[in-house]
Amino acid sequence: MRVCNSAWLMGALVIFSCAAQAAQWGPVKVAGREIWPGESQRFPYGGETSFEAAFLDAPVFVARGRSKGPTLCITAGIHGDEINGTEIARRAFSWIDPESLSGTVIAFPMVNAAGVRTGNRYMADRRDLNREFPGRSRGSASAIVAYTLFTEITNNCHYLIDLHTGSFARANHPQIRVSNGDPEGLELARHFGVGIIVLGDGPAGSIRREAHDAGIPSIIYEAGEPLRFDLDQIAAGVRGIDSVMAYLGMVEGPQELEIPNSRIYADTTWVRVPVGAGGFFFPSAELGETVESGQVLGTIIDPLTDRHTVIRATEDGEIIGLAAAQIFLSGYALVHLGLTRR
Ligand SMILES: [Zn+2]
Repeated sequence: MRVCNSAWLMGALVIFSCAAQAAQWGPVKVAGREIWPGESQRFPYGGETSFEAAFLDAPVFVARGRSKGPTLCITAGIHGDEINGTEIARRAFSWIDPESLSGTVIAFPMVNAAGVRTGNRYMADRRDLNREFPGRSRGSASAIVAYTLFTEITNNCHYLIDLHTGSFARANHPQIRVSNGDPEGLELARHFGVGIIVLGDGPAGSIRREAHDAGIPSIIYEAGEPLRFDLDQIAAGVRGIDSVMAYLGMVEGPQELEIPNSRIYADTTWVRVPVGAGGFFFPSAELGETVESGQVLGTIIDPLTDRHTVIRATEDGEIIGLAAAQIFLSGYALVHLGLTRR
């Protein structure tokens, strides 16, 4: 059995979880706490009170099943304004009965807790936390938070589900993203069951990419827009987590899991505002619509010249991300197409 690590981070003594916990099924340790079989706990990660250590006090939910099984980790609120994921993690966890659970669920429902409270995508040091993983123990505040979370993930998690929405004024059609060369992650993606899978490695420093590189099958559920709860997409996310847990043998599922066929997109493209054509954008296409190359997706109107610029699909595809009617400038990504002819 490996000895648990600890480190002073931001003035707080952080006791990391222990990998390779006892051979027989006993308690799991997260942030120095023991959670015993048949038990679930919700607690703040840190517990120290220094000015900066408040950043380490994001909530943690842990359910230790009565019987042995894998550890599924769920992260949400890495972007603080993407609140659909935070509610999905809360609901999914609240329905878990540790008495009938096989394995362990560790959920971090508000990784960027200050951002969730204030509707801010970024950390208080203005960094994007999802470009900071695996983090550094002696770096910026964001790098330390990333390091702390990533150490817990690599010590404990067999599988990772990260929850997001579209960014800024864009909404995403419910979809799962998984890295290339992650067959186990692809199975998780299929069993999540929302019908659209986007293959791609994701940006360097994102938790999904770095966890995959560390050998942990990882997927992202992307659905909806920032700063709004979308109840249908939240329900689909909770069902997806439940379905993945059934696939992993952590909860009782139906005898034969019914998994809808997924459309898998190996390539996607963005349709952007043409240079010099910024103005008021009015979309005429909808999320989930299948479009052909050349089809009209919307119009941008220059409010000073009254010039109308028609925005057209550049290739055949399905609209998996779409900007809201808003004011946009040159180069802004308006429409995300999953390409159907590649
Ligand atoms: Zn995000």
